[in-house]
Amino acid sequence: MNFPRWILPCRFALPVSVFASLCLTSVCLAASYPAQPDYLEHATPVTPAPPDQAIAGALQAIQPANIEKTIQTLVGFGTRNTLSSMETDLPPGQGITAAADWIAGQFEEISRQCGGCLEVHRDTFTEVPSDRIPKPTTITNIYAILRGSDPVQAKRMYLVTGHYDSRATNVQDPRIAAPGANDDASGVAVSLECARTLSKLNLPATVVFVAVAGEEQGLNGSTHLAKLAHSEGWQLEGVLNNDIVGGNTTPGDTLQLKDRVRVFSEGVPVAATPEQARRIRALGEESDSPSRQLARAVADADRTYFPAAAGAPFAPFLVFRPDRYLRGGDHTSFNREGFAAVRFTEWREDFNHQHQTVVIPPPGSSDPILGDLIQFVDFSYVANVARLNAATLATLASSPGLPVKVTMVTKKLDNGSTLQWEAPAGAAAGVHYELLWRETTAPDWQFMQSVPVPAAQGPIMVTVPISKDNVVFGVRAVDSAGHRGLAVVP
Ligand SMILES: [Zn+2]
Repeated sequence: MNFPRWILPCRFALPVSVFASLCLTSVCLAASYPAQPDYLEHATPVTPAPPDQAIAGALQAIQPANIEKTIQTLVGFGTRNTLSSMETDLPPGQGITAAADWIAGQFEEISRQCGGCLEVHRDTFTEVPSDRIPKPTTITNIYAILRGSDPVQAKRMYLVTGHYDSRATNVQDPRIAAPGANDDASGVAVSLECARTLSKLNLPATVVFVAVAGEEQGLNGSTHLAKLAHSEGWQLEGVLNNDIVGGNTTPGDTLQLKDRVRVFSEGVPVAATPEQARRIRALGEESDSPSRQLARAVADADRTYFPAAAGAPFAPFLVFRPDRYLRGGDHTSFNREGFAAVRFTEWREDFNHQHQTVVIPPPGSSDPILGDLIQFVDFSYVANVARLNAATLATLASSPGLPVKVTMVTKKLDNGSTLQWEAPAGAAAGVHYELLWRETTAPDWQFMQSVPVPAAQGPIMVTVPISKDNVVFGVRAVDSAGHRGLAVVP
């Protein structure tokens, strides 16, 4: 404000390239300017972490044939409408209760093959009547816990879920055929494949594999399980919800893409208190919720385990909104309880094959086939979604967890940035940190700087000559093998 006017054009208006030729005053000649902004000056682009060979090997075991078997079996229950749990005269092997028994049996079988490594649970409750539930209805969520191998890290949990209930056009019809092959037998297949795969690894943190019911009636099962997790104090650091991940294959659809899956994440957390929302607005952290860091971790795991160079790239397409228009999903139940949660969904949905009563038009008709039939599911696509889920879960469950009390030290006005944080609880020796940053308009972390292993206990403090006003900073903990944890913003 009080600068002599003749300095201003040099400092603020002229591009560096023309600076030397146009600035002729002694003040200008005395100054020298960097060739690029401070945040690029000290930057190493974020590169993929090295793959963990045990994880990479485990991902190979995820095969479309298993997924086909799972979806085929689930479709075979005729209907998995949540209300069918109250029908007492269904033929044997039909209805949602039979499906629940089968899923629990699958988890038990997987557990037998790993020496009883899974704790298989049923979360059964009676839902009171509401819009889509005409009478008190029994709902059962099935979940299997793979306890972490490290007694301290085992408190940290990651969860993968899909919903095993299905519906036809009339969501309250408990008897009509509702195959639900894509929506959401595909998501249940992802949970089961993750259990099969990850149960063979030695993961320090805990992973929970879930199939919920009541999604189509109003997220009833996931709401109950998320509240249970909250009330039991589960230290859930991330929830991956897979809903409609079948890679719908309608003949003639030229717009479906099989090399990507959408990953939806909330911005300002739905569970933020007014005070937290105020701080988010003040700091411009609308795109830095824990759910969004989880979405970025999915992308990071993808770059490690689906390298484009390998010839078969498969990538998450991050969508920065909680869900699609007019739709909801089970991740929202976990968001509401304050947990980080994202939703995986195929690139392009065909609404003729969701929530529709099955109609097969007569030969020669130009009408579309209606109904969520298995013939439209691409098992290879579901396998890629399952591999991406498993890679993310295994990486995060092997990571040291989240740095705590991450703060930007702002005692005075200055153009540098000092960040301070503390190690995750029970962090092992060899844990180090990556300071991350990106332009405020960039969707994902762009740059990083490694922070050496601290010599002593206590808070870790780092100062960089980069203006905190111009970029978003984050910190993540990395173990000695390179497993990266979730980023935390100050
Ligand atoms: Zn669904």
